[in-house]
Amino acid sequence: MTKYIFITGGVVSSLGKGIIGASLGKLLRARGFSVAIQKFDPYINVDPGSMCPFQHGEVFITDDGAETDLDLGHYERFVDANFSSLNSVTSGKIYQAVINKERNGEYFGGTVQVIPHITNEIKSRIIQTQKFYKPDFQIIEIGGTVGDIEGLPFIESIRQFKSEIGIGNAINIHCTLLPYLSTSGELKTKPSQHSVNTLRSYGIQPEILVCRTAKPIPKIEKEKLALFCSIAKEAVIECKDMKSIYEVPLALEEQNFANVVLKLLQTPEKEADLESWKALVNRINHPDKTVKIAIAGKFTKLSDAYISIVEAIKHAGYEQSAKTEIKWINSDECTDKTRCAELLNDVQGLIVPGGFGIKNVDGMINVITYARENNLPFLGICLGMQCAITEFARNVLKMKDANSTEFNNHTPYPVIDLLLEDKELKGYGGPMRCGAYDCKLKKGTKVQEAYGINKISERHKHRYEVNPEFVEDLQKAGMVFSGESNDGMFKEIMELPQLNWFVGCQFHPEFKSRPERPHPLFRELISSALKQK
Ligand code: GLN
Repeated sequence: MTKYIFITGGVVSSLGKGIIGASLGKLLRARGFSVAIQKFDPYINVDPGSMCPFQHGEVFITDDGAETDLDLGHYERFVDANFSSLNSVTSGKIYQAVINKERNGEYFGGTVQVIPHITNEIKSRIIQTQKFYKPDFQIIEIGGTVGDIEGLPFIESIRQFKSEIGIGNAINIHCTLLPYLSTSGELKTKPSQHSVNTLRSYGIQPEILVCRTAKPIPKIEKEKLALFCSIAKEAVIECKDMKSIYEVPLALEEQNFANVVLKLLQTPEKEADLESWKALVNRINHPDKTVKIAIAGKFTKLSDAYISIVEAIKHAGYEQSAKTEIKWINSDECTDKTRCAELLNDVQGLIVPGGFGIKNVDGMINVITYARENNLPFLGICLGMQCAITEFARNVLKMKDANSTEFNNHTPYPVIDLLLEDKELKGYGGPMRCGAYDCKLKKGTKVQEAYGINKISERHKHRYEVNPEFVEDLQKAGMVFSGESNDGMFKEIMELPQLNWFVGCQFHPEFKSRPERPHPLFRELISSALKQK
């Protein structure tokens, strides 16, 4: 029978509940249990697909093409699983479903209300996910902070769910922050006490308290928290700031976190096998070289906008015992070629990430020219690959004003164009190609060697494609298409084999990188960059 673990947060937002949930998932997996993690986001958007990455960070794509919260990325990376649209629920999705049912007359003329209709819909999402994965443990993280108006229907739903499922089958973990007052040298517990009180006023008594803190929590403060919050002493868990997020599971394991969870959920304790994870953390903490990689994109002011790319770079570094430094370059600054060369002068590798809209694209093209002309290891992702092809058409094939029709509908050389409208791809939410697609790799190419297999599946999110009309010209000038869709219609990967590592992919490889299993395209970028010095 599945046991349920609900995670809420209090005191401040951005507490890192996602990392705490993912870490617990890791600790349970390390004990041989199966785990599914679900995120409930109280905002009204149906999904974060069209939310600005500046505000909300990266949109994480699942195999089945769901556009989800970036926490899903942490879940997949820590638990090493592939989740789906079931794992990401928003108020928008819930209300949309209820309103659709109301319009279809499914409530037989009844008054449709938050309780029970919205709360029932929320509970049904918990059950649907349980039925699909049949996990030993289902971890459900409620986004936002306890006390927020918009989170209330979710809180009420888990209160009902917990009492319906009975003792020992569901618990609540509440995460808070202990602020540190440097003048008195004290960690303060009062905000956490108030936050637990708020949760109690909604009918939920948490069984575990996880406290984020910059300093170790003195025993006396832990006891105070236990007493005032009605929580067992061993269930007050310290979560100190760590250098790497991948250290968090080990720090929690030291405090017996997962065993406390098992005990509360009436499940016999098991020993965790964390050997390879410990080896990973050891590599993270003891790199023997450094490499600097530039990311030249649109949203470089908020690193969360590219969090999976940042993690994928790190994973590739860990494997090669290299510390990876990231230089953020706002491609807007690169419209001037001299400035562009100055900015790229001290890096050993370059990533041009995905994006939508014309803003900053000219700068992206310039950084790519620099990489091609100076043999700087390069990985272009989605828009990054489209820009690499545009750059090559303009500067090598001398196709003046070559462009993507996303940016210029009247270009004489539409090297990147819309192909999907005619093809009527069904089931992928309109003309956007979103989710996992198979790709055949061409034998003997650098990319095929990097993967070491002939068939791959990668996640996409885009509308535009390489225009088949230009493929022959591009190939004649030296570009190799190392990957294509099964029917050959879509060119998915390009490379310039005469350069050390110059690769573009139409998909997002960063979504499938794992801390212990870096993605081949990132691994090769970092290994070429390391040779670059
Ligand atoms: N804007 C481009 C397209 O829609 C690229 C999208 C992306 O980089 N994810 O095809």
